[in-house]
Amino acid sequence: MVKDDCIFCKIANGEIPSATVYEDNDFRAILDISPASKGHALIIPKEHCDNIFEIKADTAAKVFPLAAKLAKAMKEALNCDGMNIVQNNGTIAGQTVFHFHTHLIPRYEGDGVNLTWKQHDTQAEDQQLLAEAIRTLL
Ligand code: AMP
Ligand code: ZN
Repeated sequence: MVKDDCIFCKIANGEIPSATVYEDNDFRAILDISPASKGHALIIPKEHCDNIFEIKADTAAKVFPLAAKLAKAMKEALNCDGMNIVQNNGTIAGQTVFHFHTHLIPRYEGDGVNLTWKQHDTQAEDQQLLAEAIRTLL
C-alpha cells in the first residue's frame, strides 16, 4: 500500500523521478538529494511503512541483503574507504521522512562526516535487568 502525500511512496513507485541506482519489485534505491558524502544512497521499500516499528518481517528480511549488494557495487564505483549503514526511526532519532528507508553513506578519509555519540558507563546488574526486560517481550 502507498500513502497519500508521502514523497518516498511517490519516489519508490516512480511517480517522482530520482537518481535510481537499483530497482526491483519491492525496493528502489536512489541517491540522496542532500548527501552526507559523495554517493550517499537510500534504500526505499515500495510499500509504505512509517519506520522499523511497523515494517513487515518479509520486507525487513530483504533490506540487509540488498544493502550488502549495493555496498559492494558502491565501494567499487566510488572508491570509498568505508561505509556507514544508518536507519533512523522517530524524530528523536533523526528521522525526517516518515517512510522507512536505509542510508548507505560512503566514507572517505577526511570527509568530516560525524556519526558519533557519547558513551556511558554501565553496571552489570542493570544491564542484566534491561536485557531480561527486552528478552521477555520477544
Ligand atoms: P532521515 O533523516 O533518516 O529521515 O533521512 C531522510 C533523507 O531523505 C535525507 O538524507 C534527505 O536528504 C533525503 N531526501 C529527502 N527528500 C528527498 C528527495 N526528494 N530525493 C532524495 N532524497 C531525499
Ligand atoms: Zn510512503
